[in-house]
Amino acid sequence: MPDVEQHDEGDAGYDPLDPQADHFRPPSIPTLVHCLHCDQEYDSWRMEWRISKDENDQPHGFWCCPIEGCDGAGFGFDIHPVDEDYTDPDGRDMGQWCDDPPPDPETDPDKPPAEHTAVRCEKCGQTYSSADMVWWVDEDCPEDAFQMSGWMCPTPGCDGTGFGWDVRPTDPNYSDPDGRRILRPGQKCVPPEFDEGDIPF
Ligand SMILES: [Zn+2]
Ligand SMILES: [Zn+2]
Repeated sequence: MPDVEQHDEGDAGYDPLDPQADHFRPPSIPTLVHCLHCDQEYDSWRMEWRISKDENDQPHGFWCCPIEGCDGAGFGFDIHPVDEDYTDPDGRDMGQWCDDPPPDPETDPDKPPAEHTAVRCEKCGQTYSSADMVWWVDEDCPEDAFQMSGWMCPTPGCDGTGFGWDVRPTDPNYSDPDGRRILRPGQKCVPPEFDEGDIPF
């Protein structure tokens, strides 16, 4: 799960509808790219700028995979240069995402607190101790992709994830010892605000 960080989309000057302001725009010099979603290769100039809605229902443009039916998006995100030694002509750090540290349950921002507390999962409705939450890592992840991981609800078949997200303290007055933002029981889950360098949508 990406870090919850301040992002600057609310700042004046960032226009989510400006294709050239998008961090995940194709490079100014086209290069052969590979899409992790559809496994196709093509020249980056074929990527398409499409407008859809962001989490606040506001129009937001994304650079998308041109292959029909594919939902891959973002140069350097789902769509990567084929050349391993690729250097971005626009000075972006394309290798950044591969240098992410391996998933670590201890540094995950949504880990259960050291002092365990009673929790309830918003997805399956089960109540248990936060000590029962299980650490999950996507073992099927391709080597060169961002590896998904997270603290999960232990209920078989439930995809509830994250202490303070789907799995929440039953005590409405719970105060997190690490000072994290914790959703209360029944509180509407708003998607975390991602740093725009983390995720394009
Ligand atoms: Zn694709
Ligand atoms: Zn659950």
